[in-house]
Amino acid sequence: MTRKEFLRASMRSTLAAAALGPSTLGRTLRAAGGAAGDPAAPDAGRGGGAAGGREPIRLERKAIDLALRHAWTIARNTSTAKRNVLVRVSHGGIEGLGEAAPNVRYGEDWETVLSALALIEPRLGDDPSQFDRVLERIEAALPGNHAAKAAVDIALHDWIGRKTGVPLHRMFGADPAKAPLTSMSIGIDDIPVMQEKVREAEGFKILKIKVGLANDREIIAGIRAVTDRPLYVDANEGWKDRDRAVEMIKWMEGMGVVLLEQPLPAADLDGAKYVRDRVDMPIVADEAAVTAGDVPALRDAFDGVNVKVQKAGGLRMARAMIAAARRFGMKVMLGCMIETSIGITAAAHLSPLVDYADLDGNLLIAADPFRGALVRDGRLVLPRGPGLGLEGAW
Ligand SMILES: [Mg+2]
Repeated sequence: MTRKEFLRASMRSTLAAAALGPSTLGRTLRAAGGAAGDPAAPDAGRGGGAAGGREPIRLERKAIDLALRHAWTIARNTSTAKRNVLVRVSHGGIEGLGEAAPNVRYGEDWETVLSALALIEPRLGDDPSQFDRVLERIEAALPGNHAAKAAVDIALHDWIGRKTGVPLHRMFGADPAKAPLTSMSIGIDDIPVMQEKVREAEGFKILKIKVGLANDREIIAGIRAVTDRPLYVDANEGWKDRDRAVEMIKWMEGMGVVLLEQPLPAADLDGAKYVRDRVDMPIVADEAAVTAGDVPALRDAFDGVNVKVQKAGGLRMARAMIAAARRFGMKVMLGCMIETSIGITAAAHLSPLVDYADLDGNLLIAADPFRGALVRDGRLVLPRGPGLGLEGAW
């Protein structure tokens, strides 16, 4: 049995344990909502004139500038700051927080997020406990805009958790004792700077190294010179030639690299399958795997998918994507954008359900205004408070 066959066999045996049925969440929602009414028509909440005098869900939002601890370079671009959008839903004296971390790779920025939120607000209706229907209504009215939808989805989850006194991981049937190790990402830089970032990341047992420019071998050799920790490598679509990708991966297999993300451009599925058939290392799709609907086409080209709450359009859609990957026996990585602890903690509550976590986006910013999921001995530690379980002022 090759290593890849072993990984696939062990995956099948864990499928039952990873079932993501909505029953737990459904019960929680019913407990939160009681016999309360739900807007029957798609635009029932428009203008706040809800039947029965119920108050409309209030949605506040504000852009937030996040300075980065280091310039962040990956195969496609460099940035030194990130502008995200925070949201707060309020209803019945209870609040919920959410965050949009838009990514230009998926056609969003803070301005498109604000525009989308203006369209979403009148469709929220007056009953956050019915939030599956709220989110379906938004989905039907507004295509795309996944980061904006993620912000609202996260805030509604937080609201329900606070309303019912239940932490999100319990709503998802996830055991916090099974939270995985998380990798810490090392952006591309001069090799001595990358080596210094590796030293700063001494609390992490796995590192994720960004590559995809001209000097990938020098980077991996430079990292290896200062640490013997296992490495994930992310090429962010930076390699264009399938044979060169195979050659590079085979070399990396001898360098302690244990997982490779998105070697070729997302659209090159034939190339991805070609590469996967010729290497032992698990290959994970990130840019090629945006939502659950993308997963079936990836089953023969990748070993796993990188699920991101922001990319998928919220926790609800991320769970659907995890379930889709499991149906095809694929591994699941839970990734992130550059986000505060609002977005990272939302994802962390899903982390006991996945194989690999890469939830470090809050650690790449200089001053995180919130405190939620932490990392101890390299492992994610989930807050036990209701909803997201966050501390920090809006
Ligand atoms: Mg990636």
